[in-house]
Amino acid sequence: MLNNQKYIAIIGLEVHVELKTASKMFCGCPADYFGHEPNTHCCPVCLGLPGALPVPNKKAVEWCILLGLALGCQIPELSKFDRKNYFYPDLPKGYQISQYDMPFCVNGELRVKSGEMDKKIRIRRVHMEEDTGKLIHTTDGTLVDFNRSGVPLVEIVTEPDIHSGEEAKIYLQKLQQIVRYLGISDADMEKGSMRLEPNISLKLKGLGSDTQLPDYKVEVKNINSFKFVEKAINFEIERQESLLIKGEKITQETRGWSEQKGETLPQRSKEEAKDYRYFPEPDIPPIKLEKTQILEIKNQIPELPDAKLVRFMKEYGLGEYDANILTTSLQAADFYEESIKYSASSIKYKNTQPKTIANWIINKKVDIERTSPEELLEAIQQKNNMSGITDEELEKIIEKVIQDNAKAVTDYKSGKEQALMFLVGQVLRETKGKADPAQIKNKLSSLI
Ligand code: ZN
Ligand code: MN
Repeated sequence: MLNNQKYIAIIGLEVHVELKTASKMFCGCPADYFGHEPNTHCCPVCLGLPGALPVPNKKAVEWCILLGLALGCQIPELSKFDRKNYFYPDLPKGYQISQYDMPFCVNGELRVKSGEMDKKIRIRRVHMEEDTGKLIHTTDGTLVDFNRSGVPLVEIVTEPDIHSGEEAKIYLQKLQQIVRYLGISDADMEKGSMRLEPNISLKLKGLGSDTQLPDYKVEVKNINSFKFVEKAINFEIERQESLLIKGEKITQETRGWSEQKGETLPQRSKEEAKDYRYFPEPDIPPIKLEKTQILEIKNQIPELPDAKLVRFMKEYGLGEYDANILTTSLQAADFYEESIKYSASSIKYKNTQPKTIANWIINKKVDIERTSPEELLEAIQQKNNMSGITDEELEKIIEKVIQDNAKAVTDYKSGKEQALMFLVGQVLRETKGKADPAQIKNKLSSLI
């Protein structure tokens, strides 16, 4: 955190997402490399052998555009691939096929909401490229596995609209959620199918216009969880601040996050675009997209999390808190709606309310992968039969207790935990001991 509020943090994010297409980006090799025998999913194209010609994967291009459209981007009529030249042993060709000045998607935005925060992060571009091989360091030396080489990779770049580690984390969670809703990637940070690099710099508050950026930035790599991204950014903000306060200049560089040390460490000085000597990929002609093609892709966008949340609130009478939990993953949302459909179409479970089903999934932490809608509805019915009080009745009582005990509610909100126990007691009394105290406690804290 910034100590004296003299500086404002300017943060941009680059995220790489591996697409789960059947084949790689420019050849027919299988794209699922994870856990396979090294160097078994390769051919002359993805090994970069001389004379091999790349052919773009149509599905991957469509999915890149699908993501761009879901992020509100414009899709220029004309795009092209470029060569990004640099030398590294995991890159057999000596260049990566990427996109430079004519990416598939530009100028989008993503709305992020959490607590008090509700803002839009502008998306500068979403482009298509290929993944590199993987280096495996052993005591005998370094080995290279090219199974990952040429796997379709989408890069999503924001404008520097992020101002804290927390904002970065929330943006990333939202992006991951959308990618998963689209079904184009597992976006798993531990497996490396979603990788992120924040770039961070500080600027004196009130100096220059809002659009004027600092003359340096520090990129941080090697971050493989949402928790670490927040920590790494906060560490970097403090480090830069203490240097600036001492009047020192900050070096433009790439640093790596060390979880063991809880700090970022210098890796190398940061390249500028000109160091990559980008030039158009001569083996792939520019790609022209017809309006009808773009429209066809747009029609494939499913209902996205924000829209689903609003619909759940309206259609099933859920509060925002519950609707948010149920739409976190598409699997949970689908399970919920399947359970509602099942109950509506059966005689036995017809009277089970959507709200009750939601409460059960959330409060009982139902394992949706191992439970069928029928099993869930049966469990709800048995519980109701046993306790003699339905969830609706219980909820009404809880709402009444909240209304009648304004003082205890305020006490609890201001941090007095005992006040919650008092309220639980009131509910228990009203229900004549028919409801489960743990369930009451859960419901109370979600309703207050
Ligand atoms: Zn190949
Ligand atoms: Mn990239």
